[in-house]
Amino acid sequence: MAERAPVSERLIVLKSSREIALLREAGRIAAEALQETAQAVAPGITTAELDRIAEAAIRRRGGVPSFLNLYGFPASICTSINDEIVHGIPSLRRVLKAGDLVKIDLGAQYRGYHADTAVTVPVGEVSPEAQALIAVTSAALWAGIRAAVAGNRVRDISAAIEACVRAHGPYGIVRQYVGHGIGREFHEPPQVPNYLDPQRAVMTLLKPGLVLAIEPMVNLGGWQTKQRPGDRWTVVTADGSLSAHFEHTVAVTASGPEVLTLRPGEAGR
Ligand code: MG
Repeated sequence: MAERAPVSERLIVLKSSREIALLREAGRIAAEALQETAQAVAPGITTAELDRIAEAAIRRRGGVPSFLNLYGFPASICTSINDEIVHGIPSLRRVLKAGDLVKIDLGAQYRGYHADTAVTVPVGEVSPEAQALIAVTSAALWAGIRAAVAGNRVRDISAAIEACVRAHGPYGIVRQYVGHGIGREFHEPPQVPNYLDPQRAVMTLLKPGLVLAIEPMVNLGGWQTKQRPGDRWTVVTADGSLSAHFEHTVAVTASGPEVLTLRPGEAGR
């Protein structure tokens, strides 16, 4: 789940090795539950059914869905289809069809510690433009992860994500929603923008023990977003273009970034 930018400054919390161990467990639960949910995506399934699968997968592993009741959110996952960027609400009325892009965003809590992770899944056959959008957004996430190195600053993650997206074409990088610190609270400082903002260069130094949810949101059209009328959650592209979203929870360690939400069989890049 992305954080709305900006928020006032709060204290950055570095995690102890004991806390990282709990976050690693939360990350494993979230990753496995997301994998199970993504594998259920097919034409004809409703997003409410995906939510049911995700909640059961989290609880079966001893976790608690982080999103349920977070700021009043009514489900365990966010399911956002096509021009919906983030925070879509699962519904019995939303039936996936071939050609759709569905973003599944899932958070799991384990013994008070949260992990946050998201994927974009093609439903059946999707257009070449949609495939390229998925590829660039995933590549941008991994570019950001590779920059999550002690001694770098948050802005280096932002710059790496932006450079990766720009290298692939004129995509819109969402600005109003950003990545974030994560731990005992779901949204902790610092914010992690997906582009370099000269007005708000995030100079926070990356240190071992910092845990970040890195989550590029990339549009086929412009970067501008709007709130879907009639629902206080769903964020859509202002121009109706397709959007993709990938997210991992990453710990900065002395020996490099550790992806806490790596899925079984997912190749780190
Ligand atoms: Mg998030």
